[in-house]
Amino acid sequence: MSPSGETALVLFSGGQDSATCLAWALDRFAHVETIGFDYGQRHRVELDVRHSFRDRLAADFPAWGERLGADHLLNLDLLGEIGTTAMTSDTEIAMLANGLPNTFVPGRNLLFFTAAAALAYRRGIRHLVGGMCETDYSGYPDCRDDTIKSLQVTLGLGMDQRFVLHTPLMWIDKAATWEMAEQLGGPGLVDLVTEATHTCYLGDRTHRHAWGFGCGSCPACELRKSGWERFQAGKQGSAG
Ligand code: ZN
Repeated sequence: MSPSGETALVLFSGGQDSATCLAWALDRFAHVETIGFDYGQRHRVELDVRHSFRDRLAADFPAWGERLGADHLLNLDLLGEIGTTAMTSDTEIAMLANGLPNTFVPGRNLLFFTAAAALAYRRGIRHLVGGMCETDYSGYPDCRDDTIKSLQVTLGLGMDQRFVLHTPLMWIDKAATWEMAEQLGGPGLVDLVTEATHTCYLGDRTHRHAWGFGCGSCPACELRKSGWERFQAGKQGSAG
């Protein structure tokens, strides 16, 4: 059965992946709401770009704008508290070899999906959409397909409500994520995702590259940059 007449709730952080998932959901569902989490991020940039991306998406794609509903921002300060508590007093905030800051809280996506499902329950929404990806993020166990599938079962049992957890990016890489944006909304959506989403761990929005804003050297920027370059190379290849 097509879910097209139904409502979806998209976990929308303001990054490239969740922005592409938002377009994916708007292409499929009659009504789409977004949810974001404030947990004392070191950089407020992602929270700021959430609003501008939503506004510009609705303006540039009026058919999607009609489907785009409420945005919900929930406070999850406990993530910041756990992140700080886990550190000893002489530990500085640093980047680990796996590309995560050492303040990263394990199982974060479990909390995000659980909070989103509780809100979806209250609003009568069945479909949840998240940008988790096993291909580029094998180091994050809560991004694994098995984790999400098991969570779907757990949330359904625990709330006695059928939820469907959609992860359209699960098996594709960053280059294919750009391709998905192009397929959904053409060059206009690629430009908007480039300009109006944020990925950089350092919160840098002063340096503008072909692939968007960022420091250019943190693990998140490197992933976004290499995906963009492979996306561009693929277009050159298919054009020639
Ligand atoms: Zn960066």
